[in-house]
Amino acid sequence: MENELRAEITLSSPDVPAALIDELLPKLAGDALGKALGTRGEGRLIRHELHGDKLTLEIASTGGRPHQPLLSVVRKLGEELGRRAKVGVRSVTVLRYRLTFAVEPMPTKPVPLAIPHHLSFADGRATLELLDLPEEALRDNWPDRAATLVEEKARRQSYAGKEQAWELIEQSPKREHAGRDDPTEAMLKRNWVRSGPTKGKWFLGPLPAHLLRTMERIAREEVLAPLGFLEVMQPHHDSFDILVKTGHLEGLPGEFYYVTEPKSRDPADWERFTDLVAITRKVPHDELAKLVSPPSAVACYAQCPTIYWWLSGRTLAVDDLPLKVYDRAAISNRYESGGRHGLERVDEFHRIEPVYLGTPEQLVALREALLARYRHVFETILELEWRTAWVTPFYLQQSGGVGLEEPGQRIRGTIDFEAYLPYRGPRETAEWLEFQNLSIVGEKYTRAFTIRAQKGELWSGCSGIGLERWLTAFLAQKGLNADDWPDRFRKYVGELPKDVKFL
Ligand code: ATP
Ligand code: ZN
Ligand code: MG
Repeated sequence: MENELRAEITLSSPDVPAALIDELLPKLAGDALGKALGTRGEGRLIRHELHGDKLTLEIASTGGRPHQPLLSVVRKLGEELGRRAKVGVRSVTVLRYRLTFAVEPMPTKPVPLAIPHHLSFADGRATLELLDLPEEALRDNWPDRAATLVEEKARRQSYAGKEQAWELIEQSPKREHAGRDDPTEAMLKRNWVRSGPTKGKWFLGPLPAHLLRTMERIAREEVLAPLGFLEVMQPHHDSFDILVKTGHLEGLPGEFYYVTEPKSRDPADWERFTDLVAITRKVPHDELAKLVSPPSAVACYAQCPTIYWWLSGRTLAVDDLPLKVYDRAAISNRYESGGRHGLERVDEFHRIEPVYLGTPEQLVALREALLARYRHVFETILELEWRTAWVTPFYLQQSGGVGLEEPGQRIRGTIDFEAYLPYRGPRETAEWLEFQNLSIVGEKYTRAFTIRAQKGELWSGCSGIGLERWLTAFLAQKGLNADDWPDRFRKYVGELPKDVKFL
């Protein structure tokens, strides 16, 4: 499929003999295209014209795109003109760039794209014409990325409305449940928790706080410590750079809480604002908007991105593999909007995130070990009714894609752990609650963050232990009366803090 571009080169002076350009350009273009395309395809210089200090040229190619060869033509031309005519190249812009590529399946609705372009589809192909690309865009491969994005958007249209992948792995025995009620409603009735003060956040009183910390202790003592996981502590804000690398920024910009900074900490700059607060006792939002900067970071969404950042550019010693760490310091913030429900789906939650790096074999063995420890907790300490399933991997979900590896090759992927919530109705038809998950990601993030092993392949994975979800799953099944709780869990709980009495 042919790609074609029209570029405009601005020279440092109009005093260039046209004959020199006529001599140089065909040879430089031929060399650059030949070198870049090899036997994969062919390229040609269609035409060129010189008007004053502007040199326009058109090149076309098959089997590879012509923008990298163009850059090498520009560089070499600058060298030759400098040597032979004391003229340099100021800049290069691609005025239009037509890319043709296969698209499968074809989109059924328009495909918008945020940079200047024309786009059409016919006979299983897209024709994308990009307009006014600066040199930086060529160096940075925007044309390839734009073409990939068009393909991806067309593919996403065909997924829209389709069920997410879900395939049962293991199911615990059925159990009798003392719990009947929505645990959040039950906790509200007893004044254990209070909703607010901001969207989707909850205040836990002494009793549920103790229970949540007990869940955390069980996870650390029964799962993480026995498997040799080491605790790390990460900052609560994620940089945009990190989220560009992981794909989160492109996958779910509508789910972040964005962090802004004051433009100044000088009280004088804030005087109008503080006067208005003092006089009106209200927040002067318009004034505030002028005093803070655009978002410069994101409140932690998940912990693994910043753990990968910590390891970026490093080489891990074979002796340290598999590397097993976890964070419980950063609190997850997510804009859940319409999905919010009680403590089950909140905008701020406490999560332990174990992250592991090692060879594929080490990670598969570790997954088995983690599954065994989790099973032990859910069966013998919490005595839950639960199940596991292969689901659409989070790294595809959170970067916009959908899919599941073929059953035979399921080494990479995500396993969800789900609990039955009796208050939602019969176990066969009710929606179960995902209370944690476990993934092997392959090389996606070790590549993105250039993390290497001393030798061999380095894979990674993570597991998200949602403590509010552990707690609600448990209380939904067991109820709020400690007498109905399993013995081993009661031992972990120890003495319950006294309820605060509100009169
Ligand atoms: P869901 O499909 O329920 O939105 P998710 O796929 O977004 O979950 P992950 O990003 O994979 O969840 O996070 C892993 C774990 O974090 C989940 O298994 C769950 O325990 C917890 N979690 C995620 N979102 C929330 C939330 N809004 N409130 C409480 N816990 C959550
Ligand atoms: Zn993760
Ligand atoms: Mg979610």
